[in-house]
Amino acid sequence: MKKKIAILGSTGSIGKTLIEIIKKDKKEFDIILLTADKNYTDLYNQAKILNVKNLIITNKESFKELKKKKLDKINIFNNYNSFNNIFKKKIDYVMSSISGISGLIPTIKIIKHTKKIAIANKEAIICGWHLIKKDLKRFNTEFVPVDSEHFSIFYALQGNKISNIDKIYLTASGGPLNNIPKKSFKNVKISEAIKHPNWKMGKKISIDSATLMNKVFEIIEAKKIFNLKYHQLDILVHPTSYIHAITKFKDGMIKIIAHDTNMKIPIFNSLYSKQIKSIKTDQINIKKLNFLNFKKVDTKKFSSVKIIKRLPNKDSLLETFIVLANDQLVNLFLLKKLKFIDIIYLLQKLINMKEVMSLSKKKPGDISSIVSLNKFVSKKINKIIN
Ligand code: NDP
Ligand code: MG
Repeated sequence: MKKKIAILGSTGSIGKTLIEIIKKDKKEFDIILLTADKNYTDLYNQAKILNVKNLIITNKESFKELKKKKLDKINIFNNYNSFNNIFKKKIDYVMSSISGISGLIPTIKIIKHTKKIAIANKEAIICGWHLIKKDLKRFNTEFVPVDSEHFSIFYALQGNKISNIDKIYLTASGGPLNNIPKKSFKNVKISEAIKHPNWKMGKKISIDSATLMNKVFEIIEAKKIFNLKYHQLDILVHPTSYIHAITKFKDGMIKIIAHDTNMKIPIFNSLYSKQIKSIKTDQINIKKLNFLNFKKVDTKKFSSVKIIKRLPNKDSLLETFIVLANDQLVNLFLLKKLKFIDIIYLLQKLINMKEVMSLSKKKPGDISSIVSLNKFVSKKINKIIN
């Protein structure tokens, strides 16, 4: 029987990579739903090529444009309330790959409609893991992390227990500014900040890789997914990104997971998991293995990493504040309203505010309490910028 699948954010970097994999094995899949925000042209083309049944496009203008196109037998919606109409029975697989906090609501809403959910959207995991975890259990839905570091830990854990984990190192390439001195950070242009040496990704996550905020997020993600304490997690700079995570177990064994620097690998594995399927990859790269070149992060240069020390081990609203504030600051940089160096400078200044730090004692609540924090964040950012 064909696998029924849905992709939230099919027009993005992760979504398109998954579509490339599916196209090679078209007969095996029945695409029930694809979603996008604005990019109706790519969504329309994907729908035609893959014979998709339903589309959701959230941007109003794009929704109107998409409606004008000839799409016989395809239902077009513009919000996620349509999930109940679209999914009559549980489907087999969902990829959650919308970028930013906008991914939170659809990710949570879709859990009950699928047997398995692969989540790339790190904002949903950081801000809403307490809700996701509850629904995964309630609806008996399997979860696979997609971020390469977390997929590597997940893979290393096969045949092992989370309670056996002693320490985990996540690797960081160091991003496009690894070899640029801090004094030049003032003048970093958008084009330089998004030019990642090893990965081709969406704009927002590329900027986060340049500030190393992406790694801060990944530490929080790992802490939540694998139920760890912050002292059990650390970062190692590893410029070639051949190793993704190193997991040391309490029984003394260490698993070092390597794979080609290509998101296709975790995505492919999240889709096929228990089935044995092969993917075309390079031979083992001995040259890279002989030159792993791990280093501690230079926190003077990448001060974002110091934020980890401020985080409480208990889930709190502070993590959500940081995600939302960083989201808005990166946006301002992309709109050329802030300098690159201001992203982390202002983020740290915000975290130092008493009212913000007090969020570290507040438990994250339901979806609306998470999403409504955005107004508070905007207010604080406006105050600090003015
Ligand atoms: P992209 O920016 O390339 O794509 C984002 C997708 O989400 C697009 O389909 C976009 O639609 C859609 N989208 C954006 N904003 C909204 C919105 N407000 N409402 C609904 N849909 C929206 O992102 P990536 O694919 O790079 O990343 C996706 C997620 O995966 C992020 O959370 C990222 O941190 C995470 N991730 C990505 C990795 C990568 O290699 N790219 C690696 C690990 C994690 P449209 O095209 O119409 O704008
Ligand atoms: Mg990653």
